[in-house]
Amino acid sequence: MADLFNVLKVTVGPKKLTARVLVNPGMPLFTSQDVEATARVYYLAPAIADHMCLGDAGSRFQDCMGNTELAHLLEHLTVEIMNETGLAGAISSGRTRNVMGDERLFDVEISCPDDALAIGALSSATFMMNWAFLHANQTPPDFPGTVAALTALIKNLRGADDAVEPEQEDDDTAGAVIDTEGATAVAREDAGAVVYGGAAAEDNL
Ligand SMILES: [Zn+2]
Repeated sequence: MADLFNVLKVTVGPKKLTARVLVNPGMPLFTSQDVEATARVYYLAPAIADHMCLGDAGSRFQDCMGNTELAHLLEHLTVEIMNETGLAGAISSGRTRNVMGDERLFDVEISCPDDALAIGALSSATFMMNWAFLHANQTPPDFPGTVAALTALIKNLRGADDAVEPEQEDDDTAGAVIDTEGATAVAREDAGAVVYGGAAAEDNL
């Protein structure tokens, strides 16, 4: 059975990672097409509901979570995994845009200066959503365990000095600011291609 997503290409910039994601043919495009699976993702990472998300439906992700693109849900789950490692910096953000001409193709942008962290989080989020939407009869992903493993991996990559730095250990991830669509609010010139608002807008037509 095909996976939910196919990550076709990952582009790494100095401050953000862009993943071109195909929602495979036959798979749901919108969370509203499978609310039970969407709820499974929510229960894995309830904090995504409180993410700032400046779409048409409201200011928080919970306002649109029940009817938005799966790629947008993937973005928020990725950002939350990064955030819970406490290694993503003070602000974690993302943006999801449809690639014009293909309703199944999206560019998911993750703002993070650490490309290994962003890729690891994206990979984990993809795995978790695959479970939620396609393999819910199998053992659920271990969200805290995944975050812990990713945290250990990144600390290891950054070197032993960083791993024992008290400031890192004391970092309270709950206090970090999550502003997933902050970049979009500024970049209005491509608002027509912005997914988070576009979904709600289309449904109102
Ligand atoms: Zn969002």
